[in-house]
Amino acid sequence: MTHILHRQIHAKLPLAVGGSGVELFDAEGRAYIDASGGAAVSCLGHGHVDVIEAIKAQTEKLAYAHTSFFTNEPAERLADRLIAGAPEGISHVYFVSGGSEANEAALKMARQYFVEKGELQRRNIIARRQSYHGNTLGTLATGGNEWRRDPFRPLLIDTHHIDPCYAYRYRKPGESEEDYAARAAGALEEKILELGPETVMAFVAEPVVGATAGAVPPVAGYFGRIREICDRYGVLLLLDEVMCGMGRTGTMHACEQDGVAPDLMTIAKGLGGGYQPIGAVLLSREIFDAFANGSGFFQHGHTYICHPVACAAALAVQEVIERDDLLANVRSMGTYLRERLEARFGNHPHVGDIRGRGLFLGLELVADRSTKEPFDPALKLNARIKKEAMARGLMIYPSGGTIDGSRGDHVLLAPPFILDEVSADAIVERLGDAVDAAVA
Ligand code: PMP
Repeated sequence: MTHILHRQIHAKLPLAVGGSGVELFDAEGRAYIDASGGAAVSCLGHGHVDVIEAIKAQTEKLAYAHTSFFTNEPAERLADRLIAGAPEGISHVYFVSGGSEANEAALKMARQYFVEKGELQRRNIIARRQSYHGNTLGTLATGGNEWRRDPFRPLLIDTHHIDPCYAYRYRKPGESEEDYAARAAGALEEKILELGPETVMAFVAEPVVGATAGAVPPVAGYFGRIREICDRYGVLLLLDEVMCGMGRTGTMHACEQDGVAPDLMTIAKGLGGGYQPIGAVLLSREIFDAFANGSGFFQHGHTYICHPVACAAALAVQEVIERDDLLANVRSMGTYLRERLEARFGNHPHVGDIRGRGLFLGLELVADRSTKEPFDPALKLNARIKKEAMARGLMIYPSGGTIDGSRGDHVLLAPPFILDEVSADAIVERLGDAVDAAVA
């Protein structure tokens, strides 16, 4: 009998006792290939000696020093490294303990930026449907997943949502990619004009949508147009790379592949690879200057910001990624895994779409491929696939509500960057069996 309030209260979870490379082990001696990196977290896999050593060394030296008294070495070094590799215009970092905290802080930065500039009427947030930005009240209000928001609606601030860029579901038959990019991005301009440009504070989007829709990349040109529209109306662009960032898509930041630089960017999961809880906001020089030349402080804070051990762990993770050239492996193994998925599921009667970038891949499940009709949500197909996969020693990240928060199922794959062909083949084989057993 557990005294922990687990998310799935009645689920009987195996007890994780160890991990090595791409595998996790439970107390009964079973091994599971971690094909989702938990929730796209474990980018280096498990038990990495270099990261463990860095954590030990930092803990012995200095475990904690409150940021109202001190800065600390690992935080300063990690910030230098992140800024050296950041998109153009980004000049500073704010460290927190996870993705929701990062987005919450970024939203407050956006608001304070306009307060510093005297544009007090700028308060509206525009985001996209089928998005997830966190579970705190501000980020939940920002996200567009209705199922997650529903019970808490009376507590949520007013936000505004446009359709996502999701070609499989929203691109019209015969519509060119360019026309679709223009139409999907045009929805932002319409919304800004409807609300009044002088009231809009930020547009928030995941460059590649993760948890709510299963690795949905934008079509070419979409984010370029989004950037132009934000600039036209003085709206800040906040890119949430909590899940898709830090190398997951084959480049350090997913937005590099779209040729855009945000005003604010949030990162988390792959930053510390699960070795410590950590997230961060990357902010532009312009926002920093508004604070520095204005009130001189950021009116926010948490007890564990810039945590020395978390920063040391993240620094070690990022150094290993660079030293071992793991982004090259993300790109080549991403191509390999995708080819294997296409070979196994390309003609599968219940797989409508195979998509993603790098080692961030998704499958959308459909009852009927020709009509794209989803499965009946009452079947809870995504939960069945997860159960079948776990029984076969495979961790994947399936979810429901893919289409509109209530209908549709997908499977998300985000294996460690150290993946090799043998493990990739095993993932596809076990996933194929799990999907077949679940739809049978
Ligand atoms: N943004 C995105 C895109 C995410 O995928 C997540 C987590 N799934 C979050 C924010 C929230 O991060 P956390 O769970 O660390 O609070």
